[in-house]
Amino acid sequence: MSLTDTVARPQVGPGTDPVADPGPDWAAEVRELAGRRGAVLLAHNYQLPAIQDVADHVGDSLGLSRIAAAAEAETIVFCGVHFMAETAKILAPDKTVLIPDAAAGCSLADSITADQLRAWKAEHPGAVVVSYVNTTAEVKAETDVCCTSSNAVEVVESIPADREVLFLPDQFLGAHVRRVTGRENIHVWAGECHVHAGINGATLSAKAAEDPDAELFVHPECGCATSALYLAGSGAVPADRVKILSTGGMLDAARASTAASVLVATEIGMLHQLRRAAPEIDFRAVNDRASCPYMKMITPEKLLRALREGRDEVHVAPDLAARGRAAVQRMIEIGQPGGGE
Ligand code: SF4
Repeated sequence: MSLTDTVARPQVGPGTDPVADPGPDWAAEVRELAGRRGAVLLAHNYQLPAIQDVADHVGDSLGLSRIAAAAEAETIVFCGVHFMAETAKILAPDKTVLIPDAAAGCSLADSITADQLRAWKAEHPGAVVVSYVNTTAEVKAETDVCCTSSNAVEVVESIPADREVLFLPDQFLGAHVRRVTGRENIHVWAGECHVHAGINGATLSAKAAEDPDAELFVHPECGCATSALYLAGSGAVPADRVKILSTGGMLDAARASTAASVLVATEIGMLHQLRRAAPEIDFRAVNDRASCPYMKMITPEKLLRALREGRDEVHVAPDLAARGRAAVQRMIEIGQPGGGE
């Protein structure tokens, strides 16, 4: 098995799926159409601010999936990337789940296929498979237990020490778990999110030096998570200023923080919710070009189209959904799953 397998990413960006200009009253029309359709609108923290503002609920992937499962609405419109809408469908199989653009993928979820995972499992018979929630339904169906960035350490610690662990797909989160648990029989898939990997240690160090009083909020998928811990360990930045947090954890930490400024190392869409949670704090991106092109494929135009035309509907085969649901349920039972990305 090669740890450097890569998967081609879908072509994304402006012009791939042109739709009409939504006009100035698009948000009111979205709300009216959602009411008529009996739909609840969910938006991930990395969505465009305008999409976040029109949604019923904004949050992280797991939190939104739980809301989807518990919602009374018959239709869920999931403004996020495809694996998130799939997870909502796995947890709410009887509901109609729509995503405004089914081509909104995820480079991290695409970094391992079910065939690659089956081949990896064959090389390590008896190993326990732990998958981050950023995976396709097919990969979840091959997984023993899913995890979020909040409970990845607890999930791995719940596995008997003599059992090998296959951790996928994110190498930075895997390195974080290996470092914290001190476990040597954990094999980590070499996948990465190209957006988070672009937030590197050099950029973080430079930003931290420019603003020595700022706190640092770092998502463990970031390429800089190791650098952040190093900066803390070396005394360059006081350890209590560096917080390794899921996106949900960042919002809790923002509300509790007394800092005047915070450097944020994750996708820049997160800044919108952080500024709403703690308007008195100056939140700044470690890398202001860290914008996920897949998340930004969900536009007001496509949200309107989804509500008008009932597209794009997300389907997960019932047998895959049942197997994936078992792995997701185990994740929810262990520790504080928080919200993951
Ligand atoms: S930011 Fe990265 S992990 Fe998140 S959806 Fe985009 S490509 Fe996937």
